Amino acid sequence: MTQARKSLKILQLYPQDMNIYGDWGNTLSLSRRAQAHGFETEIVDYNPGDTFPEDADVIVGGGGQDSGQTIIQDDLLALGNTLKAQAEAGTPMLVICGLYQLFGKEFRTIGGENLKGIGIFDLHTVGGEERLIGNIVEESEEFGTIVGYENHSGLTYLGENVKPLAHVTKGEGNNTEDSGEGARVHNVVGSYLHGSLLPKNPRISDFLIEKAVLNKYGEFTPATLDDSVIERARASAMERPR
Ligand code: GLN
Repeated sequence: MTQARKSLKILQLYPQDMNIYGDWGNTLSLSRRAQAHGFETEIVDYNPGDTFPEDADVIVGGGGQDSGQTIIQDDLLALGNTLKAQAEAGTPMLVICGLYQLFGKEFRTIGGENLKGIGIFDLHTVGGEERLIGNIVEESEEFGTIVGYENHSGLTYLGENVKPLAHVTKGEGNNTEDSGEGARVHNVVGSYLHGSLLPKNPRISDFLIEKAVLNKYGEFTPATLDDSVIERARASAMERPR
């Protein structure tokens, strides 16, 4: 079989209710990047009540307001063990903002609601009075400089069994007390960055694609891609005021 006929199934979690500030662009960007590496792609949406496809090669989920998180909460909790087992087995996943919070243990909203998370990340979130909004730049050992845009009031605190995705050099990140942003465990990446994240940070796309392909086919030969346009977009994004 040639690499051109190999395929990846991308599962988009809750696009109806959890998909703001350009998060759908992550799915599109991941799909295009995988195609550029020589793979066919299939995008499958999962919304509350759908039959959950357990054969996804990579899983992506976006952000949402507290109300969107409330809508999907019960459905997500019912899927919790399945998603946790997939994460532990190495399925690559990217979750942004609202779903990042619910991949943690708990989110106590400013309105006093207690949203239970599925605990893939050892972290909890508390609704804050102030919204943390603006362009953000951060440094990650795995992915280099990451650029994006944050807009959240939840303040996230990491436990002992998880490390941050990156350390913020411009912006706020998980909370206002430490410089951490996002979280990393297994092949799962959680982040507050919208904007959307993947078009400007292809190293994260390549990580997700590589893990998905290795899981499915055992070997991955990346294509050499011309990222000059992406580099210009990154440079421009990094110069924008907060
Ligand atoms: N409702 C959450 C917060 O404000 C998540 C927002 C988002 O996904 N952008 O913290």
